[in-house]
Amino acid sequence: RTDLLKSDPEIANLLAKESHRLNDGLELIASENVASPAVLAALSSVLSNKYAEGYPGRRYYGGCEFNDQVEQIAIDRIKKLYGAEHANVQPHSGAQANQAVFLAFLKPGETFLGMSLPHGGHLTHGSPVNISGLYYKAESYGVDANGFIDYEELAKKARECKPKLIIAGASAYPRVIDFAKFRQVADEVGALLMVDMAHIAGLVAGGQHQSPVPFADFVTTTTHKTLRGPRGGVILCKEKYAKAIDKAIFPGLQGGPLMHVIGAKAVAFGEALNPSFKLYAEQIVVNARVLAETLLSNGIHLVSGGTDNHLILIDLKESPLSGKDAEERLAKIDITVNKNSVPNDPRKPMVTSGIRIGTPAVTTRGLVAEDMKILGEAIAFALKNDDSLLEKAKEKVSSLCKKYPLYNGALLNKGY
Ligand code: PLP
Repeated sequence: RTDLLKSDPEIANLLAKESHRLNDGLELIASENVASPAVLAALSSVLSNKYAEGYPGRRYYGGCEFNDQVEQIAIDRIKKLYGAEHANVQPHSGAQANQAVFLAFLKPGETFLGMSLPHGGHLTHGSPVNISGLYYKAESYGVDANGFIDYEELAKKARECKPKLIIAGASAYPRVIDFAKFRQVADEVGALLMVDMAHIAGLVAGGQHQSPVPFADFVTTTTHKTLRGPRGGVILCKEKYAKAIDKAIFPGLQGGPLMHVIGAKAVAFGEALNPSFKLYAEQIVVNARVLAETLLSNGIHLVSGGTDNHLILIDLKESPLSGKDAEERLAKIDITVNKNSVPNDPRKPMVTSGIRIGTPAVTTRGLVAEDMKILGEAIAFALKNDDSLLEKAKEKVSSLCKKYPLYNGALLNKGY
């Protein structure tokens, strides 16, 4: 930091401002987290200098002996964490992990079935503006009137469109996903099953959500959400698919792996293997549940009426405030969230009638159930469309920020 301040004060000052922003507000974006100092140390290490195209022991460049060991440790740790037969830790992102499965197993124009984006799915699961929807024939399933995945519709759609691949997994779904049911449907129609566990990877690692690994042919994930690693992706698969997956990542989609990110992934997987990570995952879920209960008791509607995981979707369909308005009002009290479409949203995607909230980052910071009640009240105040309440709400947020300074809360003190 001191060196950077001397050599590039412009960037150093922006980093300092970002640290203050994170410290002085509460991060409730469900897909974000706060990586440990050890993860950040690996990220900003000499590993960033190395070209290491290929895989451990089979590289196209010399001088890879230590990078080989780093990547092998990352592979071994994540295989142990999830009980997977094979792991590729090179995907630069979650999107690239997903794309690699498509590249390996689908020809352009072939049909797959994923969760619809407005019902909680991800862009890479068949949106018409993403390569998944542009190059392949995307069909979709969604949630029922109560906001739960409609497994009957899923089976019906699968029988109709006979997909080569079915995708389970979501970006804005607050309930558990029944992977056994997905497997059953996939088997019935002879489809491959991919589970994108990006959002819940940390919950799976910490035993708070059923693991998709025994059910899926491929499991893709990001490493920076509930898993609390560096930004990046991973693919887990059965041994029989290992060669095809590895070939799809390199040389299919990517060149040199980001070795500093792989080093940081190894550190994060080591942290997730520590028994204390289970306590962290448990606390994420408890915090989300208490926050949901507080919001409900303040008259706020939630998609599906609650949460089973780390994520809450506030439903503003009946509110005069749109998702965009709510995002802006929460920013005024130093809470960062994102607006999000809700099922059957009457408002446009850049406006929306929803707010997506997640507890992974505040849980890392140290907040516990009693704090969630204060946080829930602050959110409820901000969503009342009464500016006189904003100051009070901001004070509540500020008191929580002061109680749990960033990088000084649970991460360092409680051991998770
Ligand atoms: N899959 C799911 C379910 C996600 O929620 C996300 C990101 O939010 C991704 C994939 C894409 O990850 P990335 O942003 O690393 O490409």
